[in-house]
Amino acid sequence: MTAVYARISETEDQVGSFITLTEEEALVKAREMDEAGIDPENILAGLPIGIKDNIVTEGTLTTAASRMLEDFVPIYDATVTEKVKESGMISVGKLNMDEFAMGGSTENSYFKLTRNPWNLDKVPGGSSGGSAAAVAAGQVPVSLGTDTGGSIREPAAFTGVVGMKPTYGRVSRFGLIAFGSSLDQIGPFTRNVKDNAIVLNAISGHDPKDAMSHTEEVPDFTEGITDGVKGMKIGVPKEYMQEGGLQDGVKEAVLEAIETYKKLGAIVETVSLPHSKYGIPAYYIISSSEASSNLQRFDGVRYGYRAKDVESLEELYVKTRTEGFGPEVKRRIMLGTFSLSSGFYDAHFKQASKARTLIRRDFENVFEEYDLILGPTTTTTAYGIGEQIDDPIAMYLSDILTVPVNLAGVPAISIPCGFSDGMPVGLQLIGKHFDEKTIYQAAYAFE
Ligand code: GLN
Repeated sequence: MTAVYARISETEDQVGSFITLTEEEALVKAREMDEAGIDPENILAGLPIGIKDNIVTEGTLTTAASRMLEDFVPIYDATVTEKVKESGMISVGKLNMDEFAMGGSTENSYFKLTRNPWNLDKVPGGSSGGSAAAVAAGQVPVSLGTDTGGSIREPAAFTGVVGMKPTYGRVSRFGLIAFGSSLDQIGPFTRNVKDNAIVLNAISGHDPKDAMSHTEEVPDFTEGITDGVKGMKIGVPKEYMQEGGLQDGVKEAVLEAIETYKKLGAIVETVSLPHSKYGIPAYYIISSSEASSNLQRFDGVRYGYRAKDVESLEELYVKTRTEGFGPEVKRRIMLGTFSLSSGFYDAHFKQASKARTLIRRDFENVFEEYDLILGPTTTTTAYGIGEQIDDPIAMYLSDILTVPVNLAGVPAISIPCGFSDGMPVGLQLIGKHFDEKTIYQAAYAFE
């Protein structure tokens, strides 16, 4: 554990992955475990892990990278935090992110910038940028992130690590500071596929405290992981490879990955997800609508930031929210409130929900014949810090390859598949509902 903190202090000034470090507690915990004797059967015992700062941790500052929660110390643990503890892993600290997980570059954090360990002038991706950068920089072997529209897979792709968004309902959301409740999932970042499968096993399972948590049995995700892809049927959506903004180097790396899969014995064919083009508008309307409702609780009364020098309750609400939320969060609240307002609901939220159904059916149709769907995770590699931050539309459009997965609720992983202009490229493997096992098996074969 001392070595972990030595590595963090060596790299943290440049990378900036953490909002909070919990060195004292982690060292005490590690010492206690040493003294009690580590269970040799438990491979996770003593493993250092970093946790995204929108997952609540009892007694440890949890900010969601917002001024609104600058001083928020939760009095309970999220279910995943409990599971991390039960498994014997030791949390080393809380990781930087875009405010309330809104963003794709970690530039929306109230506290600090996180840099891409491969090139410090580039973004690490987001919103789980701290979680991805910490693993890529060798600060921790494992971290937890959250994915509402790509926030695990995109930063995993940008930093060359493995990131899994599990099936909606696989991992409990209890204690996750909600963004888009019908889309949010927690998942692991690791340096390799097998570790990822092991950590997902540790955090999965039914939880009565999350109404959408599924009772589906959790298999051992590592079982059969070495079985290869011989005879496996993989579909490559033509829409994902035709996408106008697809960088040449990204396309080449993915085409090479397809060749590798063919050589390994998989049957790879072109398929179609015709409603993919509605993914971005549907996602931004649905996620912002849910966010506008979820964020109503931050009113300056119950907990979190409270504005000073106010004369009425109305003024307290307005001033607290004006000062407590950053510009991107306000943009989403406005978009969401507008989409849900009477008179506009039918034109926006209802249409988006219909598009969501069509997107879900697209996946179901392909999965009738195919075991997996393969494509790039992102259209480009990591871009420069400051390059896109003033152009929200460009930011939103770059989520085109990740958001359909959340709208459909299916699981998907991003694994490294080469480089373009010196930056890592991510390969996305999408599976059927609750079939993370096939994803891991195919990802392992490629590694
Ligand atoms: N970039 C997307 C957004 O800004 C995804 C965020 C996420 O998955 N948390 O909403």
